[in-house]
Amino acid sequence: MTFTRAESALRTLGRMARTAELKRLGVTESELTRAVRSGEVVRPRQGVYALAGTQDRIVHAASHGGTVGCCTAGLLHGLWILETPPKCHVWMGTAGTPRSSCEDCHIHWDEGKVAVGAPPPVRNVLLQISQCASEDTFFAALESALRQSLLRVGDLTWLVAHLPVAMRWLVAFARADADSGLESLLRLGLHRLGIEARPQVWIAGVGEVDFVVGARLIIEADGRANHDGEDLRAKDLQRDAAAAARGYQTLRFTYGMIVHDWQAVVDAIQGALLQDGH
Ligand SMILES: [Zn+2]
Ligand SMILES: [Zn+2]
Repeated sequence: MTFTRAESALRTLGRMARTAELKRLGVTESELTRAVRSGEVVRPRQGVYALAGTQDRIVHAASHGGTVGCCTAGLLHGLWILETPPKCHVWMGTAGTPRSSCEDCHIHWDEGKVAVGAPPPVRNVLLQISQCASEDTFFAALESALRQSLLRVGDLTWLVAHLPVAMRWLVAFARADADSGLESLLRLGLHRLGIEARPQVWIAGVGEVDFVVGARLIIEADGRANHDGEDLRAKDLQRDAAAAARGYQTLRFTYGMIVHDWQAVVDAIQGALLQDGH
């Protein structure tokens, strides 16, 4: 495929690119100059071009000679990210040298080679998140990577070898079947309290529930937005009734409760566990 316009070449690639790559696609030097002048294309640094409208952080990281890393890169990979630190986090790879220093950026140097316009490999992104974000954010991101099969053979071993010793158990504790980051946070939070939550349990007459704690306590993490409406609420109530008929109690927690009011979640679960039958 050849292109006369820099803009269409970059759009087809879906990322920023070096001059040589664009030239191979048929884009001439004079077209690059024209495209930058007209504002269709930006030049984060000498010899690298991006579409106008590319996320600021991605362009900024490229201006340093690196690529955007950490939580922002996690979002680009489709990982479940609880919180993104305010600074721009840039991955330089093992051999990178920042082309300019900048107070606004946090630089990561972990092992690997930066590819222009591409986020770091998922294993590097997870390691960076472990260094900059909370343990909860790291764990939820890790489980979402496992769920989507985004890690290659050897990546978990690499990750464990590079993580601080105190965080290594999280890799062993992680599972590939958490349906959402909320489930990851719930299971991790309860484990820290010594409460084992068994995930994805099938109950005859009810269906698959997110967790069962003890003998008869069902916990559901409700990540849905309210606009999903009455139908789903009616289904939830039907399920809860079916569970109650079989001797189960159901507790449902929203994103807001799990993330912003964890103590209320713990109190509810511990209160339920104190009752007979659990
Ligand atoms: Zn970082
Ligand atoms: Zn910077």
